[in-house]
Amino acid sequence: MEPDRVDLAVVPRDVLDLCERLRSQGKRAWIVGGCVRDLLLGRPPSDWDVATDALPPDLLRIFPRAIPTGIEHGTVTVVKGGRHYEVTTLRGEGTYSDGRRPDWVEFVGDIAADLARRDFTVNAIALDALDGKVIDPYGGRSDLGRGVLRAVGDPHERFSEDGLRVLRAARFVASLELALDPATEAAIEPTLDTFRKVASERVRDEWVKTMKARAPSRAFEVMRRTGILGVTCPELLKGVGMEQNRWHAYDVWRHGLECMDACTGDPILRIAALLHDVGKPSTRAWSEKTSDYTFYDHDRVGAEIAEPISARLRFSNDERARIVSLVRNHLFHYSAEWTDAAVRRWIRRVGAARLEDLYALNDADVRAKGRDFDADLEALARLKAHVASVLAAGAALSTRDLKVNGNDLMRELGIAPGRVIGEILDALLEAVTNDPALNEKDALLARARVVLASRP
Ligand code: ATP
Ligand code: MG
Repeated sequence: MEPDRVDLAVVPRDVLDLCERLRSQGKRAWIVGGCVRDLLLGRPPSDWDVATDALPPDLLRIFPRAIPTGIEHGTVTVVKGGRHYEVTTLRGEGTYSDGRRPDWVEFVGDIAADLARRDFTVNAIALDALDGKVIDPYGGRSDLGRGVLRAVGDPHERFSEDGLRVLRAARFVASLELALDPATEAAIEPTLDTFRKVASERVRDEWVKTMKARAPSRAFEVMRRTGILGVTCPELLKGVGMEQNRWHAYDVWRHGLECMDACTGDPILRIAALLHDVGKPSTRAWSEKTSDYTFYDHDRVGAEIAEPISARLRFSNDERARIVSLVRNHLFHYSAEWTDAAVRRWIRRVGAARLEDLYALNDADVRAKGRDFDADLEALARLKAHVASVLAAGAALSTRDLKVNGNDLMRELGIAPGRVIGEILDALLEAVTNDPALNEKDALLARARVVLASRP
């Protein structure tokens, strides 16, 4: 039996106070949207939204200190106890001519009309803030119970109005672990032209939110099946059905998804995991010697492909650099032959700041082979220990760690500022990587004189 009432004790005091304030002014209030859905699922809601029959001018009067975040659409943000709550006048729907936002909004007096404009039935449930009565005209509770994500009303119409909804559908399949209703899924492909108009920043935000799911692959499978991914990231589709080699149980596509799911990092790290083998499809070659496929250089090629993808998704410069460098450096095969110098050189190449990322990515990558991976995990553990010991010994990893600097070189060698300084410092770092004992002022200066003399 679905409950007809929810005990309002689960709603934060600040939210109930806010509703009480509206009521004292003769207005009605409902708690609505994702927070109701999360409450019914027994998950902690991330934000609380209130709907009310108070019109925008009333809202500004009743909450004089509220931020008029979207007052033309009837939304104000009330800040209480450091938290933000959105209070929105009940709205019907205008027409959408741009596939992004309604041309006009109509304020209505009826909660059912407000719920009708929402995207999915599970997001179209309201609680009367007076008595906790559940208002659920589209069967959202029954869909939650059956584990189904279904559009409110005609899915084709709803997806044609606002192109973001198809991507929200994919995200909710992953984050709420629901199955997509077949009629809702079937409406995605025919409405992709509306999805194409969605700003890249909004697509990126949905990708990032998707990465918070336990298994984001659920969303990416929806995106692949429906054509959403063909719009956003066709590069990934080339791995679909592409067989790998004896080390792998999955095709290139599934391996990327498994790696993303297994990767326990933040959203950007998980996106790097999704993309880490994007260079494989264009580098696959058959080896007669091993009677198997090889993917030479797929890390380098993959980094070249990951760069425009991260740019297209409007990731920040730092995020782009992080994704590209993880794809570039994801491949390493640590063995007992790695000397201390080899480990120092590897740290310099991948960057000391990226070590934790690479460990997490490699752990997920080897698990995502879907075959025996114990030996790989042991190798990773040995690499970590070796890196730790090299770092503990105070290895010089950049020219800043050298016991001489550019000023010393200019003074002691009598040279003028210029490119030569940087070249000598690089040569010294190279020498110190091979032999840390060289990192003493006199030894470095002597070495610097040799480097200077041997320049053409
Ligand atoms: P989240 O857990 O990400 O906060 P949410 O469902 O609460 O998920 P919000 O973006 O906070 O999503 O939106 C709150 C509510 O507004 C939704 O539950 C839904 O009812 C409605 N909504 C949001 N975006 C759309 C949209 N693009 N089309 C229709 N309704 C929407
Ligand atoms: Mg929300």
